[in-house]
Amino acid sequence: MITLIKNVECYCPAYIGIKDILIANDSIYKIVEPNSWIPCSEFISILDCNGLIAMPGIIDGHVHITGGGGEDGFSSRITEIDVKDIFLAGVTTVVGLLGADSQTRSLKNLLAKAKSLEIEGLTTFIYSGSYAAPIITFTEDITSDMVLIDKVIGAGEIAIADHRSSYPDLKDILSIATKAHIGGLISGKAGLIHFHVGDGKSGLDLVNQLIANTDLPIDQFLPTHTNRNKNLFEQAIQFTKNGGNVDLTSGEQIGISVPDAVQKLLDEGVALHRVTISSDANGSSPNGEAGKIQTLADDIKQCLVEKKILPEIIFPLVTENVAKRIRQYPKKGTIKEGSDADILIMDKDFNLRNLFSNGKLVVSDGKVI
Ligand code: ZN
Repeated sequence: MITLIKNVECYCPAYIGIKDILIANDSIYKIVEPNSWIPCSEFISILDCNGLIAMPGIIDGHVHITGGGGEDGFSSRITEIDVKDIFLAGVTTVVGLLGADSQTRSLKNLLAKAKSLEIEGLTTFIYSGSYAAPIITFTEDITSDMVLIDKVIGAGEIAIADHRSSYPDLKDILSIATKAHIGGLISGKAGLIHFHVGDGKSGLDLVNQLIANTDLPIDQFLPTHTNRNKNLFEQAIQFTKNGGNVDLTSGEQIGISVPDAVQKLLDEGVALHRVTISSDANGSSPNGEAGKIQTLADDIKQCLVEKKILPEIIFPLVTENVAKRIRQYPKKGTIKEGSDADILIMDKDFNLRNLFSNGKLVVSDGKVI
């Protein structure tokens, strides 16, 4: 299957101008100057994208693909995510996870859902564990999970500074982190410890203790929801200045919106390659309303339109940076020869027009195929 995307303005996410992109099967075969490659077969499908913009497919690193919730009784359970909603948000890769509920939701179910989404055309990974520490695993050991189960990239989301957490101490987290680290070394995976950080007083204290008291690499730790309140956000800024990576959560329910948070990070001179944004989609929220994956694309659009942040500055936070965090770069998170053909095509107002996921056109003219 060969597709030629013509005359598209390319953010890879670095800006490279107007190009033609040739997709062969599931990957990007060539990126050439417009009209320098003449299709010589009727079997090549051609998509003229004159006046349109291309960026890598969005990678959402925090999605409750099996549904979160249930924190306000059984009637508050949130449903599984639909692949159509994922594609309509311009997302081509997700990392799925459990949340507070590891009683009625299981890792096996999470893995099965991740596999089903992949059959539908998405790329998926998962974390072993839930809010609680010690963590739940497939094999009773996070190292084995990472070595034996392809989709497991680390442990998460482990809750800290939250009334729903198990209030883990340094020793609890260390036993998970050391095992995930070894699992990462053996399997060539990220070995991430993904922290859900709540509104609790201690904020990032535990993560800072881990860095100060061990020799584990700082980029093994990825705290999220770090824009949920002012104190935590200040701590997160300091964490990036110390060489750590942080994740922001999109949507209106978070304390400091993504556009405001990114503007503040720019004002503070934070190295944005340390920052990612995820949606927390289908997770629970205090008012019982599920987070929506569309908020990620909406917040990016607001950064572009209202804050006037340049595309090449904001796009990496949902593409290249995430791919690097989950150790999938440059296979994912970029438009490059040899990379997977995950390509999001927008109009000049940043509305989704077409989406390729692993070389397959899954959204055409704004509609899921
Ligand atoms: Zn969370």
